[in-house]
Amino acid sequence: MRLATYEHQGRTRVGAVNEDRIVEVARDMIELIASGSSAPEKAREAAGAAEGTPLTEVRLLAPIPRPRRDVFCVGWNYSEHFREGQLVHGKEVPDLPEWPALFSKGPNTVVGPEAGVSFPSPHSEQLDWECELAVIIGRECRDVREEDALAHVFGYTCANDVSVRDVQRRHGGQWFKGKNFDTHLPLGPWIVTADEIPNPHALRISTRVNGVTKQESRTERMVFTVPRILRDLSAGMTLVPGDIVITGTPEGVGFARKPPEYLKVGDVMEVEIEKIGVLRNTVVAGR
Ligand code: MG
Repeated sequence: MRLATYEHQGRTRVGAVNEDRIVEVARDMIELIASGSSAPEKAREAAGAAEGTPLTEVRLLAPIPRPRRDVFCVGWNYSEHFREGQLVHGKEVPDLPEWPALFSKGPNTVVGPEAGVSFPSPHSEQLDWECELAVIIGRECRDVREEDALAHVFGYTCANDVSVRDVQRRHGGQWFKGKNFDTHLPLGPWIVTADEIPNPHALRISTRVNGVTKQESRTERMVFTVPRILRDLSAGMTLVPGDIVITGTPEGVGFARKPPEYLKVGDVMEVEIEKIGVLRNTVVAGR
């Protein structure tokens, strides 16, 4: 099932998307997720035979418009992206790390489909794209084992880990500042529940900028799988329903291209993931 958060006639609701229509099923996505493992069935029942509203009459928001805390992020999780990043800096390509690189993006970074992504001037001109599979946690867990990890996943959506490259690199070897500009984490267009994606490592993933493909890969190529990421992330740290984890980007980002390519105002980014859909956002002049 595809579950979206949307605005219609001044109200924000959660709906089940059925082809070109949306049927209201709940008031709030985190509440729905936290209502337990039967949440998708409850939503399915609520959707029932109701006719719903044409999608063209509503505005989709991020599936979780305001996460309760930071979105967890994995860096360098596709080996070719790791390699391209090292080569840009003229470094020898070392062995892949044994543990995932982890950082976070705050709630203010999150925007929905079609929302503007702010150009970072006057602070930077180096705005870049990163398509990523986002995992939505469904059940509270800590110290989760790899073999149990997928049972704690509610569903998946598309993410664009928009990055400000020079700022990302200049703050002491960690990426927090350059990854946390407002509007720099588009999510959506909806959550596809985990029952429809039993294997998150069999999906095409791509980014187009102004219609031109820049990234094109498959989630099979992740270095650290979703179960391994959830194992490491939940070690000694409780994950709760509605937590979001983005799982790294493949090669083809702008800064590593020859010559480097950065986004400008008016550029249209489309992140597409098989079985989920297309997340489209336009770069707008910053404030
Ligand atoms: Mg990323």
